[in-house]
Amino acid sequence: TYREVDESEVVSALEDIFVIRPQTLRNICKHFVDELTLGLKEDGHTLKMIPSYVTRRPTGKETGSYLALDLGGTNFRVCEVYLEGDSKVRLTQKKFTIPDYAKCGQSDVLFDFLADSVLTFITENNIPTESDIPLGFTFSFPVDQTAIDKGYLMVWTKGFDCKDTINKDVVALLNEALARKNVKVHVTALVNDTVGTLMSHAYYDPGTFVGVILGTGTNAAYVEKVSAIPKWKGGPVESGEMIINCEWGAFDNERVVLPFNKYDQKMDEESTNPGQQTFEKMISGMYLGEIVRQVIVELIQRRILFGGISSPEIETPYKFETAYMSRIERDHTSDLLDTKMVLQELLNIPYPAPRDRRIVRRICELVATRAARLSAVGVAAVVTKMERVNDGCTVAIDGSVYEHYPHFGNRMKDALHELLGMFEENVNIVLGKDGSSVGAGVIAALA
Ligand code: ADP
Repeated sequence: TYREVDESEVVSALEDIFVIRPQTLRNICKHFVDELTLGLKEDGHTLKMIPSYVTRRPTGKETGSYLALDLGGTNFRVCEVYLEGDSKVRLTQKKFTIPDYAKCGQSDVLFDFLADSVLTFITENNIPTESDIPLGFTFSFPVDQTAIDKGYLMVWTKGFDCKDTINKDVVALLNEALARKNVKVHVTALVNDTVGTLMSHAYYDPGTFVGVILGTGTNAAYVEKVSAIPKWKGGPVESGEMIINCEWGAFDNERVVLPFNKYDQKMDEESTNPGQQTFEKMISGMYLGEIVRQVIVELIQRRILFGGISSPEIETPYKFETAYMSRIERDHTSDLLDTKMVLQELLNIPYPAPRDRRIVRRICELVATRAARLSAVGVAAVVTKMERVNDGCTVAIDGSVYEHYPHFGNRMKDALHELLGMFEENVNIVLGKDGSSVGAGVIAALA
């Protein structure tokens, strides 16, 4: 027999699992600051804290034309970045979709695809190639960087998995692919998207000290004092500053402070990289929809949702996209008609009753709010580590989750207030669009 469980009972059980209270937030933040410090001390810790070899921030006066290539998640972009000086930038870009066979096959297949895309872009935009054009390569995966133009891939993330790329210099791989295709372009800088976001925003606003990505994955970079990086063995740095790529997606892989619950665990076990990227899996666009799906599937199995009736779509991993959550949270109709539409038409649930729609909406809210609050913990930890809580700074954030998810910024701000009190006002969070591409141009200009 089917007994409908009381809506408030369902919701309050989910709240117990997903809500992060202020005290927990503060504990996580404290541990985060310790981990940032530890990663700077020596290699082999959870936070890789990778020196980017970018030791100078732009003045806004840099000029010239540069190519930028941005590989890091869903889209792959080739751009021409024209720095006008005067803090102004012009950007021409073309997006390409990376086919699945290139994401998980042989390295050469992937890099040939990248080189072909560069060729297409140059041809379509009539870019002269008499002299080797300098190119900034934004490659947003953990690399062991040994020079501004050299970096060895440590591990793939975000669904990429070309086995034979590991431990190879990705700049060399790209230069070789470009040479194979006879493309007269030369990679002069290897850039992480977080570093790019920081640098491109600093071109407009010199108070920018942090770059964050909240997209397919999540990560951050910030300006550190070389004297605070014990593991740096690269000799003296004129500016005394080094931009550090935190690779914060791996934060708490040990699972000691994050409230990683049974739904997170199930998603993690079924992912391409179980046990890895714990922080990222609770925050970024690749995973939020999947967590919601895990909750829904369990509630269907327990006959708490949709009268226990499932669909092949809702049973398919990653079929519930993070963008659906956005849409559902934007649904302000009293009957949640757009939520009904998503459930019926995109996920083939035959009859989602109003009560079921409300529960689904609440699940989205809980999962996304937790993500925003954890993102804020990361920002607070970095700003605390930099000792800029008093003096303040600008934090540039790029990525679809931050840009498009309703209330994401405000939820972050609330959490930041819980963490920093009145000093929250000193942290100026702004959207830094196209940062990873423009930043590659800016860094190529400085290189
Ligand atoms: P990148 O892959 O470079 O990080 P984006 O910043 O566009 O690119 O992030 C893509 C991710 O954002 C995808 O995982 C997708 O789930 C998520 N996403 C796309 N559209 C939306 C949206 N409207 N609301 C929330 N998340 C979205």
